[in-house]
Amino acid sequence: MMIDTHCHVDLYEAPCDVVRDAETRHVTTIAVTYLPSHFEMAQEHLRGQTFTRPALGLHPLAAKDHAREIPLFKTLCAGQDLIGEIGLDFSAAGKVPRSTQEASFAMLLDCIRDRPRFVTLHSRGAEDVVLAHLERSGIVNAVFHWFSGSRAQLLRVLDAGHLLSVNPAMIRTTKWHEFIRLVPHDAILTESDGPFVKQEGRPAQPTDIPAVIDWLAASWQMRHELVEEQVGMNCRRVPALQRLLSSVMT
Ligand SMILES: [Zn+2]
Repeated sequence: MMIDTHCHVDLYEAPCDVVRDAETRHVTTIAVTYLPSHFEMAQEHLRGQTFTRPALGLHPLAAKDHAREIPLFKTLCAGQDLIGEIGLDFSAAGKVPRSTQEASFAMLLDCIRDRPRFVTLHSRGAEDVVLAHLERSGIVNAVFHWFSGSRAQLLRVLDAGHLLSVNPAMIRTTKWHEFIRLVPHDAILTESDGPFVKQEGRPAQPTDIPAVIDWLAASWQMRHELVEEQVGMNCRRVPALQRLLSSVMT
């Protein structure tokens, strides 16, 4: 069982090739989106695929489109189990005022708090604020993707019971060589975050998940197959992922 919980399939130069490779190698892939209108297009394109499924997103760096797109998010979210990418970006890249981002984010969380879903989160420079919003909304078992906060923030995320997804860029950082020792094995999922993340000079893709598993295997001193099994078990902490995996298997 291999899973890529965060891949921007629609942003590759040749998305169809990425989907074909993920399907051939049986990598369950969550195709995150920037906007609900992109999600609708992804639904069309991915219809009939087994392993590649779209997630409904509203990215914090696309905040200029939020006012126009939030009504569509509200309409679509009732029927969606997979949510992402949503979150906050307080780094220099996040040009939209924090208060505007937070108002959008709070509205999205309000839409999805009625039942447990899979949620993949962007939290760059805003780790504590994202955490506070999740707490306020009563959302548990969310997934912090490409976590780049401090050690203390990492421990707070874990204390709150959330999960973290690890990608090929993170495993090259000394920060994560230390962090991985602090994270319980049952709190880790895998992602490519392609095409943003690069692997061997080209955009990472779902078929690069084995490299992440290899790194986890070395860090945990476990066999590759056992790590794969562990990540599969971790998916079961999130009922929506469990449902996704059972639908893929049958
Ligand atoms: Zn992303």
